[in-house]
Amino acid sequence: MNRKPVIAIDGPAGAGKSTLAAMVANQLGLLLVDTGALYRGVAWVSLERGVGGEDALALGRIAETIRLRFTVGPDGLPRLWIDEEDRSESIRLPKVSKRASQVSKHPQVREALLGLQRGFGERGGVVLEGRDIGTVVFPSAEIKIFLTASAQARAHRRVADLTSRGIHVDYDRTFSELADRDRQDTERPLAPLKPAKDALVIDTTDSPLDSVVDRVVKLVESTQGWPLR
Ligand code: C5P
Repeated sequence: MNRKPVIAIDGPAGAGKSTLAAMVANQLGLLLVDTGALYRGVAWVSLERGVGGEDALALGRIAETIRLRFTVGPDGLPRLWIDEEDRSESIRLPKVSKRASQVSKHPQVREALLGLQRGFGERGGVVLEGRDIGTVVFPSAEIKIFLTASAQARAHRRVADLTSRGIHVDYDRTFSELADRDRQDTERPLAPLKPAKDALVIDTTDSPLDSVVDRVVKLVESTQGWPLR
C-alpha cells in the first residue's frame, strides 16, 4: 500500500491553520500535530519557572527535558500534556503566545523540538501545522499549504477563538500582539515564517474555511490518488 502523505500547513497566527488542519486530518483519517503548541509548552514552563525569554541555554534545556505529548479531546482537537499534566488551556493565554514567539527564535529550542516533530511524521499519514513545516521540518512533504489572511481578519478570528475558550481579550490589543508576533516570526534568522517555494498559498480573508477544507482534501486525493478514505 502507498505511504500516506505528510501535509504541511504553515502561516501566520489567526489564519485558520488549526481549524483547517483538524478538519483535513479528520476527513482523511490522519494524525494531527499542532507544532505551535510545542513552542507554547516550552514558553509556559519558562514562565512557571521564572526563566527569562532571552536565556537561550536554560530555554533549550527546558525544551530538551520536558515531556510533551498530545491526546485528542472530545471536540477532535489536540490537547497538549506537559510532564503528564493537561495544559491545553493555559498555553492559549496571550502572555504564553508572546513568550512562545520569543522562545522560538533560539536555535537551542528549535533544535530540541525538531526531532520530536520529525518523529511524529516519519511514517507519513500526518497533518502538521506551524510556521516552518514545509520549509524546515518536512521540506519533502507531499502537500504544502501556506494559509494567510488580512491582519484584521486574523485579529477578529483570534478574539472569537479566545472568547470561545473563556479568555476575554481586547481587539486592538490582540491586533497589535499579532502584528508583533508576525514581525518576530518573519524576521528571525532561523526558520522564519515564509511560504515554501512549492507551497500553495491560500488567502482565507474572504473565503469560508469549509471551501478551503474541500479544496485541500481534493488536492491531497488528486495529487497521488491515495486510498485515504
Ligand atoms: O501556532 P501558534 O500561534 O500556536 O504558535 C505559537 C508560536 O510558536 C509562534 O508565534 C511561533 O513563534 C512559534 N512557532 C514556530 N514554529 C512552528 C510553530 C510555532 O516558531 N512550527
